Amino acid sequence: MLSRLPLQVDVIDPNEQIYGINYMEQLPITAKEVAKETALDPVLRKVFTYTLRGWPYQRDTELLPYSRKANELSVDNGCLLWGQRVVIPASLRSRVLQELHLEHPGVNRMKALARSFVWWVNLDKDIEELVKTCEQCQNARHRPSTTNPPHPWLYPNRPWERVHCDLAEFGGRQYFVMMDAYSKWPDIYDLGTSASTTKVIDALRRSFSSNGLPERLVSDNGPQFISLEFRDFVQSNGIRHQLTPPYHPASNGQAERLVQELKKSLRGKPAARSWSHQLSLFLLHYRSTPHTTTGKSPAELQLKRTLRTRLDLLFSRGQADLGQQNEQQFQEASSQVRELIPGEAVGVWNPRRDGRGNWLYGTVMQKVGPTNYMIEVEGHVRYVHIDHLRQRDSRSMSGGLPTPEQTDIPITPTSSKELIPPVISVTQESDAVEIPGRVKCI
Ligand SMILES: [Zn+2]
Repeated sequence: MLSRLPLQVDVIDPNEQIYGINYMEQLPITAKEVAKETALDPVLRKVFTYTLRGWPYQRDTELLPYSRKANELSVDNGCLLWGQRVVIPASLRSRVLQELHLEHPGVNRMKALARSFVWWVNLDKDIEELVKTCEQCQNARHRPSTTNPPHPWLYPNRPWERVHCDLAEFGGRQYFVMMDAYSKWPDIYDLGTSASTTKVIDALRRSFSSNGLPERLVSDNGPQFISLEFRDFVQSNGIRHQLTPPYHPASNGQAERLVQELKKSLRGKPAARSWSHQLSLFLLHYRSTPHTTTGKSPAELQLKRTLRTRLDLLFSRGQADLGQQNEQQFQEASSQVRELIPGEAVGVWNPRRDGRGNWLYGTVMQKVGPTNYMIEVEGHVRYVHIDHLRQRDSRSMSGGLPTPEQTDIPITPTSSKELIPPVISVTQESDAVEIPGRVKCI
């Protein structure tokens, strides 16, 4: 037992523990909720009905912003849509704003993100108000540039043509930051407490494993980037390495800006969230939010698709219809395997750690999956795969004892006469049956 204890325990901030009790990630807002609130919203309710049945000649002033868009409004699964955007009822607006504001993207990016998903009257104004009152957004606003405009890099023709990289330090940890000039796709790696050349190369390798090799890599002349090891690495991978002038960080502005955004995000981390959790959230948010320079999300340009996020849950298309899908898979899979009937007496293979095993008597209780059954064995409930179940007859339960892997005994029609009476009496006490989910799995 002692060997399982962690050797090192992170120092736990007492505040963090207090937070941990009350802290819970807020659930995303779904299309279902939007539909429910739309039906309860005094204004949207009318708009919804008029969109379905046609607009009356006399209109209330509160309906004007909607009637002006009448031709572009539609309904879908109880939600009102303006073009591709969901119209959010008043009761959910503050929660949607929170979701959009999650990473403190600032006014412009927050508006761009909102435009891909939602709309309501005064949406832009609400966003401006929120950012104005958010200390974190205000503190992290970029200082107005007083220096010369950054190095006029040419805009590349394709993703991964030119990648900017940099190192950032935050809270005693080093981060390796990469940014593609074309798609604005960010890659960030936590290097731990020190940023050695080896660690930087390792991070690059990890990025290349999913993105491929870039044509050009731009960095400042930090010691890691001018080391012989680094030069060998980029040369052997056919990458051109370009250094930016010393003491002129603006030349590597793309990576610099990403570093600022990253620090802003890390600074705003809730106490109960881990650094790696925060970093992942930051990356997902950055990759899926339209970039102010390109007007598209990094994912769209880099991967040629949008990433599914919690905001997609606002649309009925964003709901993964797991129930239906699973049912379909269940049916398909079921048709290919043999069926056992509840109440049927079966032999249950009981494998042992040494690879051998023995057959036990059991009774089918019910089918719980395409290939899994709930079986009563010796008064206990077990979940058993069909491969480990045999019809209980004289051949399979006595004598040769073939293991499930050795042979596949064909199922013959059940006949009670052939069955060997169970040698174990099954107790009917309720506590003998284990709770499903915690049952032993053979
Ligand atoms: Zn903010």
